[in-house]
Amino acid sequence: MQSPKYRFNKKDKKNWPIVLAVILGSLVLLAPVVWMGLHNWSLDESLTAMNFQKTDEPEPSHSTDKPVDEVNEDPNQTQKPKLPKETVPPKKPEKTETPVEPKESPSPPVEKPASDEYIPNQKYPSTPTLVEGFVIANKHYPLPTDYNKGEDSKAREAFDQMAAAAKLDGFELVAFSTFRSFERQETLYNQYVSKDGQQAADQYSARPGYSEHQTGLAFDIGERNFEQHWASASFGKTPAGQWIANNAHKYGFIMRYPLGKEEVTGYMHESWHFRYVGVEPATDMFTHKQTLEEYLDL
Ligand SMILES: [Zn+2]
Repeated sequence: MQSPKYRFNKKDKKNWPIVLAVILGSLVLLAPVVWMGLHNWSLDESLTAMNFQKTDEPEPSHSTDKPVDEVNEDPNQTQKPKLPKETVPPKKPEKTETPVEPKESPSPPVEKPASDEYIPNQKYPSTPTLVEGFVIANKHYPLPTDYNKGEDSKAREAFDQMAAAAKLDGFELVAFSTFRSFERQETLYNQYVSKDGQQAADQYSARPGYSEHQTGLAFDIGERNFEQHWASASFGKTPAGQWIANNAHKYGFIMRYPLGKEEVTGYMHESWHFRYVGVEPATDMFTHKQTLEEYLDL
């Protein structure tokens, strides 16, 4: 057992120079590797420009952190490009939109002109305007050009009853103008325009399609033998005119264009023009002093 130990010792002693040479050689060979490794690790943090040139490559990792920071900064940068986008272009179109609004504001008065004014370039409807069963004909609601039903039979019956009652009180009423076709109104209106001009004609005559007489429900009423008051403001001052003003509603008629309601109805006061609506509505409007426009909230 001791002999091999000695043999090893003897071999070690004999091989000392070789062992040393091998160890030194290995150290010499390993040293630069170890140093290189150590230097590589240490160089990254603290060495010279030679190392900085090499660390420029690992620094890109830092530089990638910087772009990450830049990505964090990108929102700032993106906010900056957004700022010019938000500040300049959108606000200016908003300002351009605001002048569009005042353009819209003057348009509503164009859409809703005064009740005594016609709506420009308005087209005739294909069907009459019915509100709660009432046929509407005024300067904002024209009738179809072919609306041609003639004089309303119920309105005629009501007038006959009213005329009979008036006769008992001493007044002989006459309906001197009732239904007018579109063509008839067109002829009349054109005659008035050629005589007095359109602006004046619009004050006392409806344009074709806009006359309530085309409904067959409007009756122009006067007193027989007093033709000088027919279709005249003076009729309202006559006893017959005052009688019908106070009694027409009992037979279903309303004074369609009362004094003081010109801006509501669109027409000057006509003491002779009556519209048949039925007894109950006529009584309601008479009691509350409402026009048909007010009664139907047109
Ligand atoms: Zn009339």
